[in-house]
Amino acid sequence: MLKTKYIFITGGVLSALGKGVAAASIGNILESYGFTISILKLDPYLNVDPGTMSPFQHGEVFVTDDGAETDLDLGHYERFTTAKMSQENNWTAGKIYNDVIQKERRGDYLGKTVQVIPHVTDEIKSAIKVMHGKYDVILVEIGGTVGDIESLPFLEAIRQIGLEDNDSIYVHLTLVPFIKTAGELKTKPTQHSVKALREIGIQPDILLCRAEIPLNDDIKKKIALFTNLKFDDVVSAPDVKTIYEIPLIFKKEGLGSNILKKLNLQKKKDDSEIWAKWVNRVKNLKEEIVISIVGKYIQLNDSYKSLYEALFHAGVKNNLRVKLDLVESEDLLKCDLSERFKLSHAILIPGGFGIRGIEGMIKAVEYSRINRIPFLGICLGMQVASIEFIRNVAEIKDADSVEFNKYAHNKVFLKLKELINIEELGHNMRLGEYKCALEKGTLCYSIYKTEKIFERHRHRFEFNPKFETVLEDNGMIISGKNPERNLVEMIELKDHPWFIGCQFHPEFKSRPINPHPLFVSFVKSAKKFKDRIKS
Ligand code: GLN
Repeated sequence: MLKTKYIFITGGVLSALGKGVAAASIGNILESYGFTISILKLDPYLNVDPGTMSPFQHGEVFVTDDGAETDLDLGHYERFTTAKMSQENNWTAGKIYNDVIQKERRGDYLGKTVQVIPHVTDEIKSAIKVMHGKYDVILVEIGGTVGDIESLPFLEAIRQIGLEDNDSIYVHLTLVPFIKTAGELKTKPTQHSVKALREIGIQPDILLCRAEIPLNDDIKKKIALFTNLKFDDVVSAPDVKTIYEIPLIFKKEGLGSNILKKLNLQKKKDDSEIWAKWVNRVKNLKEEIVISIVGKYIQLNDSYKSLYEALFHAGVKNNLRVKLDLVESEDLLKCDLSERFKLSHAILIPGGFGIRGIEGMIKAVEYSRINRIPFLGICLGMQVASIEFIRNVAEIKDADSVEFNKYAHNKVFLKLKELINIEELGHNMRLGEYKCALEKGTLCYSIYKTEKIFERHRHRFEFNPKFETVLEDNGMIISGKNPERNLVEMIELKDHPWFIGCQFHPEFKSRPINPHPLFVSFVKSAKKFKDRIKS
């Protein structure tokens, strides 16, 4: 059993400062020093998990191998470090309260009055300690902003852990705004944010200060003085071109060695070379390709975080800068597609739920199928691609998914529960990692170069096996299937340079240095398309 140390990360002033990326970056630095780590996210909202929240509210739902629907920050943790996220890495106030109330109903509290302190805080503490002893360092990010009513029990719990255990530190992320009219950086919001933390008994050990420009020494000295810190504990976190540069910037600022000193750790190695080389490659990308993404939460940067990152990683692997062209699918019903996609080198339809925008997506699939533009359909995208094919090539005009039309005569996608016993899953969705067996000789096989792959799922509807022959008789290949339940997982078009649909979400498994093969191949095919239309 290891002597686990803790780093608690809180945020102040306002949200969206990049606390998740900051936590992931510290994890990255610690791994570069040879330590084993994990990262937890504690979210103070009352939903038990973000699974039922709209992407407009919450951004992407990140799915882990073990099928947890989690906060998108867990995606950053997996992309910046080798830590594997699971059900145990994301806790919400809803989940904590749910556990406390269940215990109360079971009679576990032996006649006591159940209270926020100590019962809820103890539950939070045991959630934090669930991996104790398994890693050298566990980072714990507290969602929300200091001063929110709902985050109080979480802050109280981490305050107590710090008191009981000398092996933990507090890192606080704040904003130092640049006021144009004054021409200077202002420290007051940071002073107030630290004051709010200290009022509840937490003195931060390190401040990460987000600012448009690097903080100069005078500003750092001033912040240190007003927040009861030493000069070295105030770290500049300026805006960067690529978030992947942040661990390197933090390291240069001395954050890594400062954390080690405070946690009483000696580095085992110091190895950021591969990461630094990769970042350097990012900075030197010259040629651009354009990928059109057709969906309905498309304008929100956070709704498809992992997808956009996966395309970016695949671009870097191909030495290409991937420019995203975000297309509202409903708009496609009103325009000339050849005009709309004039500058596109590939078309992608990502995951999604509900009927809105489906007909526009069908048009986009048809356009890329006929015009031989590289096409990738992910989850909903694969479903729409199958429906388009059955409607327009097999000429079964009312082919549909029961998600969009429960009265359709030709139901190409059925509810999961009509195909398998969902009691076994404990869910009406297929969630998390499933095996897929690839057919030799297919494009998919040539991309993965293996017969068995494991990918993450998050969907309620499945391809209806009755339509498998309709696909195959008309020129679509079923290239991957789940062997245990015989479910269609991957399809590809026979007479097309690159047209693939997958029922799973490959984007969750892409890593900067280890990009996902499906995206690498897709981006490569987009480049080929670009060269073809140029010549
Ligand atoms: N709405 C579809 C389903 O539930 C697709 C889900 C998705 O794209 N994640 O099956």
